[in-house]
Amino acid sequence: MPNRDLQGILESHFEWFHRRPELSNQEHETTAHIREILEAAGIEILDVPLKTGLVARLKGSISEGPVVALRSDIDALSITEVSQSPYPSEHPGVMHACGHDFHLTSLLGAAVLLQKERDTLPGAIKLLFQPAEEGGNGAQQVLDSGVLDDVQEIYGLHTSAEHESGIIAVSPGAVNAAVGAFRILLHGKGGHAALPHFCLDPIPAAAQIISAAQTIVSRTISPFDQAVLSITHIEAGTTWNVIPPEALLEGTIRTFNTERLSEVSEQLEKLARGIGENMGLKVEYSWQINTVATNNDPLLSGFVADTARNLGFTVVPAVPSMGGEDFALYQQRIPGAFWTIGVGSPQALHHPGFTADPAALSTAAELMAALGVAALRRMADNPERAL
Ligand SMILES: [Zn+2]
Ligand SMILES: [Zn+2]
Repeated sequence: MPNRDLQGILESHFEWFHRRPELSNQEHETTAHIREILEAAGIEILDVPLKTGLVARLKGSISEGPVVALRSDIDALSITEVSQSPYPSEHPGVMHACGHDFHLTSLLGAAVLLQKERDTLPGAIKLLFQPAEEGGNGAQQVLDSGVLDDVQEIYGLHTSAEHESGIIAVSPGAVNAAVGAFRILLHGKGGHAALPHFCLDPIPAAAQIISAAQTIVSRTISPFDQAVLSITHIEAGTTWNVIPPEALLEGTIRTFNTERLSEVSEQLEKLARGIGENMGLKVEYSWQINTVATNNDPLLSGFVADTARNLGFTVVPAVPSMGGEDFALYQQRIPGAFWTIGVGSPQALHHPGFTADPAALSTAAELMAALGVAALRRMADNPERAL
């Protein structure tokens, strides 16, 4: 049963945030408004060295006790909104197309619910409003601040366009991929297009690398494993009658297994060097891992499913996504589970038509609050089960 009072409040907060999306590390207005809402509710805000984003805390009367973190992200994307929303973005070229406005509003709802039973909490709950999830090192900034050092379990949520509004989806293991980015620069020798024999043309090498790269996933990865290799940016030359001196290729590799990610990159590097050097070019290869794969603790993902069912919500297995999610960085240090909630969007995440159904806000808020309370009680009753 949706909590009607809470739902009304959350819908008006959601409208405010949806109208005012801000890019990664620039979420100043968003942070200020979250702070205002929490302060008005009498919730403690911790002094954490973050430029944007914030961490609030609800602490019970027992001074020593377990600590659980509930996490939302808060940033938006460089997308011009073309959605059915009755209150579209008022910031040109910026849009909450990944539903982070939905996440943070749900966490505000959880804060209000938890505040009502704060005194009975057998420990503390940290509410993490994380900046810069969309490629701005937000999770790393939070980890570096040390604010999660005393946290024993962490839970995060994401909207799911695939599921009907209010459906909870959660599974053990990896649900979001490890993501890496590569850059291949081919150095040749430019010159007149009529005199190719005096040049070292990087374009035929680039074309061969693009075609051959497609065999890495199809021919070297087990059909039971998943990997994506996409070349997304090619650049060479400026006009029709000059052979360019250089060609650039950029792209991404994604897998559900973080070690496999580096193996695919090594294969791509070998292939690019082989083709390029055989054609007399100098090959520069650079690679960086943007995020590791999420890794849901099986006990904790089961705990999310049980808690959601106890609240009367429908629970289904998660749909794995090749999209990256920096919640994975927390899970490298803290056992945690990342779950999704259906928002019945007509379009996928990161699409200009993505529209989250606000009717699911109170469900997300109630589940987040319940997870915090139930995790604290489980750990307080049974300290050796601090997973
Ligand atoms: Zn996103
Ligand atoms: Zn997202």
